[in-house]
Amino acid sequence: MNNILFVASECTPFIKTGGLADVVGSLPQALRQYEKQEVRVILPLYDEMDEEWKDQLEYLCSFDVQLGWRTQEAHLFTLTYNKIIYYFISNDYYFTRKGIYGYYDDGERFVFFSHAVIESLKYIDYKPQILHGHDWQTGIAIALANILQPIKNMKTIFTIHNIKYQGVMPLDIYEDFFRMGREHISGLEWDGMLNCLKSALFHADKITTVSPSYADEIKDPYYSEGLHPMLLNRADDLVGVINGIDTREYNPSSDPSIFMNYRSARSKKRENRMHLQQQIGLSYKEESPLYVIITRLVEQKGLHLVQHILDEFLNQDIQFIVLGTGEKEFEGYFADIAYRYPEKAAALLTFDEGLARQLYASADFFLMPSKFEPCGLSQLIALQYKTVPIVRETGGLKDTIHPYNELTGDGNGFSFTNYNAHDLLNVLNYSLEIFNNPSEWQQLLKNVNKSQFSWKESAHQYVTIYESLSPELVYG
Ligand code: ADP
Repeated sequence: MNNILFVASECTPFIKTGGLADVVGSLPQALRQYEKQEVRVILPLYDEMDEEWKDQLEYLCSFDVQLGWRTQEAHLFTLTYNKIIYYFISNDYYFTRKGIYGYYDDGERFVFFSHAVIESLKYIDYKPQILHGHDWQTGIAIALANILQPIKNMKTIFTIHNIKYQGVMPLDIYEDFFRMGREHISGLEWDGMLNCLKSALFHADKITTVSPSYADEIKDPYYSEGLHPMLLNRADDLVGVINGIDTREYNPSSDPSIFMNYRSARSKKRENRMHLQQQIGLSYKEESPLYVIITRLVEQKGLHLVQHILDEFLNQDIQFIVLGTGEKEFEGYFADIAYRYPEKAAALLTFDEGLARQLYASADFFLMPSKFEPCGLSQLIALQYKTVPIVRETGGLKDTIHPYNELTGDGNGFSFTNYNAHDLLNVLNYSLEIFNNPSEWQQLLKNVNKSQFSWKESAHQYVTIYESLSPELVYG
């Protein structure tokens, strides 16, 4: 049996703030079809996790974690879900808090987690040949795996889900966090700071990111958040693999959270919409298409463009709903829009998985004009629910959504290239034109119905990477 241990800070169904959790939850399941290997997953145990899961935890052991000159305790728990074994590391001081990120000491919390992951390898009855870390929270685990070699010949992979978040701290905490010689500082440091993401880029045997376009983009200063020299340096070991989604999990014909299940029938989508709008108090307008946004309300998602043109677009015969939480500026803006257009718009400023699914099921169009987008899962989920994505051509959005072309009849959505509000408005107006042209609209929906992004091909690409790293891994 060949073993791959995923290390991550979030994972469905246990704890989620964004697409990272979806990937860490669904990729191990997709890899199960390859018989001769076993993927397990190790996560922090957050107080925030639902009781439903906490009740299933089995205690394994407790051990000390050396954080520089300090000793911290870690407790290791496990549970099995859908035939995958999950490990959870708990520490009251670091993880018994509300929410999962956003604290002044997030850097320290995940340096602790990384140390604890490496230490836990002594105690679990499972020896990974590959340690696969996801995002900055696990960067130090990848670095320590390389420096300390806790398991002979263990290889490491690091996946960048978003290069914007790097886990940056002042360098003078080095002695507080590490009991290693100062010769290791250069691998962990970037721009005079301790940088968790850079540490992984320096130490990982292989680096992946979540779409081929993003793999190219992050070598460029516009997208690299300062790390392009590192990525150019490691370009031979960097590869982009597009994320898949769990197509059984996101399936409108069986999803229990939506009002009426459907395969592709628009009439049933309408039923969902009627029900949802009744529930949230937005009057239903049969002839007006529904445009939705479901996202973290942060600048990355192109919301400044939306702010520039939404008033103008709302003059058209449409309805608009946003679901999201995040920066106050955007929450305030959308609340104001809903207030000023009570017949046309609603703002649901919350994080609610069930509501998100009802919106995917109800909408005609899904809007995602991101400034940058490593992969993006929401547009893929929208396609699953037969909702037409409107995106900016960047990262994974560019790799998955192809603009509708009236001449050839190809394309599964709408897109625009420049980060420009009026280009967005033009494409929104164009989408409305196509919506109001029955033959074009039917052709577009046919294409949308055929678009599927399951894990099948991407899981295979990961297997190829695992095999290249550890040739003794032989897959069934
Ligand atoms: P990111 O990882 O940058 O947040 P993705 O598109 O990759 O963006 O993934 C976002 C995931 O989070 C999707 O599953 C989306 O449906 C979900 N999501 C985003 N905002 C909300 C919300 N307010 N309520 C419920 N689910 C949300």
